[in-house]
Amino acid sequence: MAVPTIKLNDGREIPQLGFGVFQIEPGHTAEKVQAALDVGYRHIDTAQMYGNEEGVGKAIAGSGIPRDELWITTKLDNDGHGRDRAVQRLDESLDRLGLDHVDLYLIHWPRPHDDRYVETWQGFEDARESGRARSIGVSNFQIPHLERLAQETSTRPAVNQIEFHPHLVQRELREYHKDHDIATEAWSPIGQGKGLLDAPVLTELADKYGRSAAQVVLRWHIQLGNVVFPKSNNPDRIRENFEIFDFSLSEDDIGAIEKLHTGRRVGPDPDTFG
Ligand code: NAD
Repeated sequence: MAVPTIKLNDGREIPQLGFGVFQIEPGHTAEKVQAALDVGYRHIDTAQMYGNEEGVGKAIAGSGIPRDELWITTKLDNDGHGRDRAVQRLDESLDRLGLDHVDLYLIHWPRPHDDRYVETWQGFEDARESGRARSIGVSNFQIPHLERLAQETSTRPAVNQIEFHPHLVQRELREYHKDHDIATEAWSPIGQGKGLLDAPVLTELADKYGRSAAQVVLRWHIQLGNVVFPKSNNPDRIRENFEIFDFSLSEDDIGAIEKLHTGRRVGPDPDTFG
């Protein structure tokens, strides 16, 4: 099954579906990433904070897959803000990953109380200039943070990776991203599985389409134009989460899923975290 791509504002194309490795144990990461690559995933989303970049690197090295067929994202840890430090931290990630560049480097959290995300972004521009990060973006940025980057720097983030699932449908940020040509990456796309997948509307749609509730939610993200990278340690679910390109939800069903919005987050508040 071919995974569609999304064209970023820097002209590069990112696979719309990937494999996320948050909370995968460092010692098991290589095995899980290998399982995902075997299924056909070619996009891996890791972070310095996850402590498992080495495992990702090991799986890449052992896979024999040409580097240009893979999309590898990592993220700057919260204690790495600052122009030079952001670049130095990327070099350390590249060592752990065994790569000479990542496809996407993200500021993991804006940390507005620390107020260094603008200078950190200048470091990201340096990293892109040097070719060690082919695309650069942000994560957990709210509209005021994106506005400041727009006013004080010359590069728009290619993506903003935000918490996004049927309980938190992010209407305002989606609109802002659309207006400013920033791709939306949805983290915790199935709400970490916590209760969400039992919602009657999702189990009914799962029956209707002959799919699992997780597949229905992931398909919803794909049709909204989001980039997603569900995480699982379970090989059957890793495969299941990849099999979402041979059915489509109707417009009405997409709307019905949006109605599950409660505003409840599974993760921290970006205005205060970190
Ligand atoms: P997720 O929504 O992908 O949920 C993962 C959990 O859902 C699994 O642990 C499992 O319990 C369950 N699950 C997975 N597949 C299932 C299936 N087919 N059926 C039923 N249950 C299933 O949550 P996540 O791991 O938090 O998010 C995905 C990725 O997003 C992460 O691995 C990471 O790469 C990224 N992320 C980024 C940030 C950020 O701040 N930028 C924060 C959290 C996660």
